[in-house]
Amino acid sequence: MPDTKSVNIAVVGGGPGGYAAAFLAADLGMTVTLIDPEANPGGVCLYRGCIPSKALLHVAKLMEESEQAKNWGIEFGAPKVDLARLRSFKENVVKKLTGGLGILSKQRKVHYLQGRAAFENSTTLRVSKTDGSEQSLTFDRIVIATGSRPAIVPTLKLETPRMMDSTGALNLEDIPGSLLVVGGGYIGLELGSVYAALGTRVTVVEMLSGLLPGADRDLVLPLHKRLEKRLEGILLNTTVASVKDEGSAIRATLQAQDGSRQEKVFDRVLVSVGRKPNSEIAGLEKTKVQLGQRGFIQVNKQLQTDDPSIYAIGDVVGEPMLAHKASHEGRVAIEAIAGHKVAFEPSAIPAVVFTDPEVAWCGVTETQAQKENREVKVAKFPWAASGRAITLDQPEGMTKLIFDPQSERVLGAGIVGPGAGELIAECVLAVEMAALASDVAMTIHPHPTLSETIMESAEVLFGTSTDLYRPKRG
Ligand SMILES: Cc1cc2nc3c(=O)[nH]c(=O)nc-3n(C[C@H](O)[C@H](O)[C@H](O)COP(=O)(O)OP(=O)(O)OC[C@H]3O[C@@H](n4cnc5c(N)ncnc54)[C@H](O)[C@@H]3O)c2cc1C
Repeated sequence: MPDTKSVNIAVVGGGPGGYAAAFLAADLGMTVTLIDPEANPGGVCLYRGCIPSKALLHVAKLMEESEQAKNWGIEFGAPKVDLARLRSFKENVVKKLTGGLGILSKQRKVHYLQGRAAFENSTTLRVSKTDGSEQSLTFDRIVIATGSRPAIVPTLKLETPRMMDSTGALNLEDIPGSLLVVGGGYIGLELGSVYAALGTRVTVVEMLSGLLPGADRDLVLPLHKRLEKRLEGILLNTTVASVKDEGSAIRATLQAQDGSRQEKVFDRVLVSVGRKPNSEIAGLEKTKVQLGQRGFIQVNKQLQTDDPSIYAIGDVVGEPMLAHKASHEGRVAIEAIAGHKVAFEPSAIPAVVFTDPEVAWCGVTETQAQKENREVKVAKFPWAASGRAITLDQPEGMTKLIFDPQSERVLGAGIVGPGAGELIAECVLAVEMAALASDVAMTIHPHPTLSETIMESAEVLFGTSTDLYRPKRG
């Protein structure tokens, strides 16, 4: 399809996957219709995910730092929380960003339809618009970007606002006295941290043996230790067997791995046990689109489904369910439609947990290497040896790089500490550019910054880190 000007394209879903796809398609000269139930593009990420949670986590961090300031001779006194103003700060952040996307849509002449799309066939959509009207539209290509929603556990379903998913928790109706967080993944820990900072007694229950399953244990340890101090409890190898609405509270039965049970009462419960793809799109059965494992839409490396005129991107096609993966896939799908030679095959997709401290990783992890019996070399730089970390009074952090043992090519990285989410971007670039340990070690990093810990990790591999005496073994 060389002449993109003649292409008429629909994007179903206005999240970070959908709007990135729609905007690039418009930039390449295609005629684009973007369909989403909200007034402006943004999707889960902007309306009820990444953005509102980060606005609240920013406030939580400030509260915790003002508490920590006691150690530096500064006392601010107990914080007074004006919940209505905090909520409106968060809502204004969302409004500003989604409104901005609305303006960008108009500037690009993207035809934005507020409503829900259903398939009539592989190239025709019926859109039920929010104003109550219906419209049938035919396209050359359709990109599905319908995202995901919180997974529901049938035993934890109660019709009471005391039981919340992430959307309910972000609404910040009140500051409950106590909160049970079911699931020790990133969403539970981030939102649990917000409530803990606001003064709620938070208990986290995780079915597996550690928080953030999937992340390397040495990265999780400093976070676990800090959360142990801040939270009421972290119960590992524990499930919630049942919940009961007692009117003024929720009674939860917690079951440990050995079968022993205990009952606890909470003001609110946040269920954050994962997310499910929105692949049950009306009429999808009238196309050749196939679903694979766990209900994800099956796609090839060009994000094309089993139906040649339909592409799919973002959370609805698989893990990791992250906004930046969705946007990148959106752009690859559009380039593929435009006839460019492209494939979605990144060497590293960063993952960031915006807790305090932050945890971030990319590329090959130690856990993955062990599982795959893959030989790697690992070099770690503890932040206790970083000048910048000491000035921040945050010596518990750590940076590690994972190398191919023969070529010394950087395969992956992991960072725990404040700003890890920003720092990991340099490591993603190193992995994607196939940088060697020597490239990273010889790159001059500004002093005093936490970014030096990446350079010094590479130096650790050679036993020549300036700030750490760790001679090379063997
Ligand atoms: C609390 C929370 C915090 C998060 N924090 C982060 C973070 O810090 N970093 C990060 O990378 N990711 C984060 N995520 C995940 C991130 O939000 C998702 O990975 C991302 O939004 C996926 O983008 P998407 O474009 O695939 O779909 P979505 O953002 O889910 O958007 C899909 C859109 O499609 C619409 N839609 C569905 N069906 C139809 C239909 N039939 N017709 C029209 N429209 C339809 C939906 O209403 C929605 O607006 C977080 C998620 C949550 C819940």
